[in-house]
Amino acid sequence: DACSGYTFLGKAPARAAPGTQKRENQELLDGKAKGGRQALLEPCRLCRVRPRDGNIIHGCTAHMITCFSCARKLHRFHMPCPGCGQVIQKVIKVFIA
Ligand SMILES: [Zn+2]
Ligand SMILES: [Zn+2]
Repeated sequence: DACSGYTFLGKAPARAAPGTQKRENQELLDGKAKGGRQALLEPCRLCRVRPRDGNIIHGCTAHMITCFSCARKLHRFHMPCPGCGQVIQKVIKVFIA
């Protein structure tokens, strides 16, 4: 339902911090419960540490697959999008509010 959804999103940024054992367990539980959202809430695909707050823009679509720091690095070195291989036109930071 909507209420628990908001609570879940509100918790997400806290996961950026290196997790305690307890937090990791919580993450597993959340992943099971929410299913499809798990990919979005997984850490950055490249560094596996920071949250996926970097949005890689290509055309009128974007991939949210890495953190902002990794996304900027990819852009700087003219690497393709790690999600689909398209040219990275722009990288923006995403704030979930
Ligand atoms: Zn990263
Ligand atoms: Zn892409």
